[in-house]
Amino acid sequence: MSKQTHSFQAEVKQILHLVTHSLYSNKEIFLRELVSNASDACDKLRFEALNNAALFEDAPNLEVRVFFDKDAKTLTIRDNGIGMSAEEAAANLGTIAKSGTREFMAKLEGDQKKDANLIGQFGVGFYSGFIVADRITVETRRAGLPADQGVRWSSEGTGEYELETITKPTRGTDIVLHLRDEEASDFLSTWKLKSIISKYSDHLNLPVLMEKETWDAEKSEQVKTDEWETVNKAAAIWTRSKSDITDSEYQDFYKQISYDQAAPLAYTHNRVEGRSEYTQLLFIPAKAPFDLWNRDKRGGVKLYVKRVFIMDDAEALMPTYMRFVKGVIDSADLPLNVSRELLQESRDVKAIREGSTKRVLSMLEGLANSEEAADKEKYASFWKEFGAVMKEGVGEDHTNQERLAKLLRFASTHADEGVSFADYVSRMKEGQDAIYYITADSLQGAKTSPQLEIFKKKGIEVLLLTDRVDEWMLSHLYEFEGHSLQSVAKGAVDLGKLQDEEEKKKAEEAAEAFKPVLERLKDSLKERAKDVRVTTRLVDSPACLVVEDGDMSAHLARMLKQAGQ
Ligand code: ADP
Ligand code: MG
Repeated sequence: MSKQTHSFQAEVKQILHLVTHSLYSNKEIFLRELVSNASDACDKLRFEALNNAALFEDAPNLEVRVFFDKDAKTLTIRDNGIGMSAEEAAANLGTIAKSGTREFMAKLEGDQKKDANLIGQFGVGFYSGFIVADRITVETRRAGLPADQGVRWSSEGTGEYELETITKPTRGTDIVLHLRDEEASDFLSTWKLKSIISKYSDHLNLPVLMEKETWDAEKSEQVKTDEWETVNKAAAIWTRSKSDITDSEYQDFYKQISYDQAAPLAYTHNRVEGRSEYTQLLFIPAKAPFDLWNRDKRGGVKLYVKRVFIMDDAEALMPTYMRFVKGVIDSADLPLNVSRELLQESRDVKAIREGSTKRVLSMLEGLANSEEAADKEKYASFWKEFGAVMKEGVGEDHTNQERLAKLLRFASTHADEGVSFADYVSRMKEGQDAIYYITADSLQGAKTSPQLEIFKKKGIEVLLLTDRVDEWMLSHLYEFEGHSLQSVAKGAVDLGKLQDEEEKKKAEEAAEAFKPVLERLKDSLKERAKDVRVTTRLVDSPACLVVEDGDMSAHLARMLKQAGQ
């Protein structure tokens, strides 16, 4: 293939424009992104080679090398990973397959700091090279293809890129950044590059090498030798023993895998033994990511088998309602040479998923039930960020439904937040059997509902549910420890023993006395109302709408109508 010019996909052009014009802080993350791509490429090779050892050619030691040329102002990131064919280079470095570009741009536009760190969260890391470079040349050859099927990709990061065939004897990829003048002085320094690499890439399961330097007294400067040295720790943190790992090492690792700049809320690191043996290192972030509501997003948990990356298939490793969990699972006994599809179906992976789900639940229970104020606060903040997602679990995860129910927190007529079912039950009135709730669009709407009047008068607590998922959740949860969950907006509220005889009698008398009025109302409302009743539920308001037991609630009906159903 002689040199061809291609146009970037429109989204890529937009991203590139933003990247080159508006990322001011944390510029150094381009190196993390490119080294992490190199590491991904090595992971992919390791995985494909499980079934085809020939892919290793004569270089089985996977590694990344970072080197620079001060005169040419170039910085190169070289890996001997999987490489790319011409088609792959065009697809991977010219288009964006993932959704989320729009959110990314909206977020950047709103971000005062124009933080380059955002880029990694959106999976467009390659383009971050253009933060510091005015031209990037990629030379690559896919493992298994002959040397004359290498590819050179080159672009100035504006509208177009060029592709041509080259001869490349070694497999893998060289990313050559032609640095802008103003960045060259900053980044073309061994010391600087080393410090960035150890900041972001210490825990990569892969050595990152740089040229060794020595002091030249005559020139009185550092000069390169022809030796290479590993500049990152290159030891997967999860394989080390817990007692040797400091809290700040865990935090650093979390930041590396999550692109989060804040420390995690909590983490758990265990070696699980039994029928299936594996190590789990799982983190709960402190803040919800921008795409928390995207149920199909890429998983935050990676599965390794004996340190070989296998997959980050979200659903196979974590239930959807725990999609915010980040971390690593490393199995000691899964077969390495079966397809991902078979693995997803395997009983062992299912056991790992169950074990990890339970582990996250116990981590949360630990915080929720702790006597320590700091833990309680953590749980409250967790619930604010992720509570609505956890509620999906009540309907989706029947095995853990009881445990999940205990973790739920609500607003109620007693407190604006943090009310658990157990708190509610502990405050129930003498003779009260049911847990009462109301659903509404907003806390204000719930609080001022006329349907609460009788409950207020009698001092009975009512849970105020305002999350979109609440209705759905309650269609899967009927009771808590023997107390049925009852909507105050459905049917004739049965206050059971709480209703005093006198009121009941009064209502019956009133119903008798108002019979003609009720008939007239029923008649004039015709199809619009199923029934018109005298009620004891109201104290101040003259009338209210209720739905029949078992019917769709008014709130749900409104939501469906909004959604166009
Ligand atoms: P992501 O890494 O999240 O997929 P990037 O923008 O960082 O997104 O990279 C885009 C794609 O380009 C990668 O998914 C990969 O297919 C390809 N790629 C980038 N760098 C390399 C590399 N060093 N070796 C092989 N493929 C690469
Ligand atoms: Mg990447």
